[in-house]
Amino acid sequence: MSANKAHHYINGEWLADAPNGFCDSINPATGDVIGSAPNGSVSLAEQAVTAARDAFETSEWASNPRLRAKVLLDFANRLEANKDRIATLMATENGKVLTQAKHEVAAGFGEARYYAGVARNVFGRTYESGPGKMSLMTREPSGVVSVIVPWNAPVTLLVRSIAPALAAGCTVVIKPAPQTPFTNAAVMECFAALDALPKGVVNSVNEYGTEVGTVLSTHPEIDVISFTGSSRTGKIIMANAADTVKHVSLELGGKAPAIVFDDADLDTAVAEIKRGSLALNGQMCTCVSRILVQDSVYDTMKDRMAEAYEKVRTGDPMTDGVELGPLIDRPNQERILGIIERADVEANMVVRGEAPKGDLAQGCYVTPTMFEIDDVSSDLVQDELFGPIVSFERFTDEADALHKANATRYGLAASVYTNELKRAMRMSRKLKFGTVWLNSHNRLLAEVETGGYRESGVGRLHGIEAMNDFLETKHVYYEAEN
Ligand code: NAD
Repeated sequence: MSANKAHHYINGEWLADAPNGFCDSINPATGDVIGSAPNGSVSLAEQAVTAARDAFETSEWASNPRLRAKVLLDFANRLEANKDRIATLMATENGKVLTQAKHEVAAGFGEARYYAGVARNVFGRTYESGPGKMSLMTREPSGVVSVIVPWNAPVTLLVRSIAPALAAGCTVVIKPAPQTPFTNAAVMECFAALDALPKGVVNSVNEYGTEVGTVLSTHPEIDVISFTGSSRTGKIIMANAADTVKHVSLELGGKAPAIVFDDADLDTAVAEIKRGSLALNGQMCTCVSRILVQDSVYDTMKDRMAEAYEKVRTGDPMTDGVELGPLIDRPNQERILGIIERADVEANMVVRGEAPKGDLAQGCYVTPTMFEIDDVSSDLVQDELFGPIVSFERFTDEADALHKANATRYGLAASVYTNELKRAMRMSRKLKFGTVWLNSHNRLLAEVETGGYRESGVGRLHGIEAMNDFLETKHVYYEAEN
């Protein structure tokens, strides 16, 4: 299997079956077709679930943590050995700037190594409730997990779900995003090459529509759903899972505010906000999408952010020094251009983004946009826009900053810029977000949990708490006197 094929991977075999035809993967920087991936079907999804169930019940996977640790370490080494090829493939498929794609792959193999260690550190507890009355609390793998992921970070978002699932002893069926099947297949190759991995522990089925995703969120043999994607799809998955009462882990949309107080180091704030809003070309769930600035530094920050955005180098993601690549596809480029037109009418435009002409015209590029608005109820402030576009908003004091920052239905991540430690800690306590960065943005670590409040999700990934999604606690009771 080479990286220019993107077949399904089921029960240790590559399958080219395409009962629902093929789906083209398109380079958003050029419009060129990279290749075609076979579309899955209900039957292929069921085959993958059966393989995962058999592997869970009959192989030693679920009961051998040392085997799991070895597989995760070997997988990490394979990923590292292929890091440049996978990063290049990813940048070609989703338009991510190559240096960011390289960081993403490195984060992926780092995370697999972290969970290889965790695999050998899952312990239960004991309790003696009276003389000779023993309770054992054992930690058991939950079973078969479906892992459904989006295109914007197809390596780390996949690894951060499957690594804890595998470390716990679960088996997995993956549904990659239709935009990045080749990157996913390159990661699957790293598993396929591992002799120690029992067949059926890791499976992957492509699809363009929702058939496979529906099987993976309704099938009675699926115990856990680990979903990363939009809040809209997350709600459908949660509803689908209700009938068989599955455990759901949902990592959903975001609308991250960056809150700048008048005592902040503005050089740091400008640099962090610029980088934090343009990561993955503005298409990252934790991207800064609202800049909230205190009165007395409002005009200064506005000028400085405008200057920073105007200087952004937009271009081919493979070129050194490029900061902003294309959006994922033409419909999303058109969607963002439409939002810019609306913002032009409903808000005060500070930096107006556009689709560049000339060499870049064949790609799905849009340059950065910043608009000024003071109505938190506007859709422009409430909705996840998911592109290189930010609102610029004013606040008076801490209470006003908190009120405005907490005023959307999302609660994934926020950042606060101030040199006063007590204020930073007060703000971090009262912000209703799963992550609060102080004087920085977008620092994500394998060891530290991430996840959302409110409509940004349910559960936590990364860190030790990610294991909670994939483990059941069982009470075994014993009376020595009986
Ligand atoms: P999406 O919800 O459209 O798709 C995500 C995945 O779900 C894809 O694999 C898609 O094919 C699949 N899917 C779509 N409909 C489905 C259905 N009915 N049943 C089962 N699966 C289905 O999201 P997207 O546009 O690909 O990704 C962008 C979104 O993901 C943004 O909202 C972003 O904020 C969010 N995201 C969140 C995180 C996080 O950690 N919270 C990380 C990355 C992206």
